[in-house]
Amino acid sequence: MTERCYRCGSANVRAIKMEMAFAPLKAEPVYALGTPIVCLECGLVECSLSEEPIRKLRERALLQAADTAAGGQALQRIA
Ligand SMILES: [Zn+2]
Repeated sequence: MTERCYRCGSANVRAIKMEMAFAPLKAEPVYALGTPIVCLECGLVECSLSEEPIRKLRERALLQAADTAAGGQALQRIA
């Protein structure tokens, strides 16, 4: 494997297992396991999520968008 960091160009990169928690505002956190490529020079972490956490985040984002839309309409009515 001859991966390089795309930000700093260093070859000092490693695949390191990681647990991530995504906490959208007003929504339950989404936990995901991943094995991102971590640059040990500049600290860049590059990772793709699997389908399951992506689906959950998409659902929560849609819920938030609906909330924001409702709030926006309410504000317009007040004004
Ligand atoms: Zn780097």
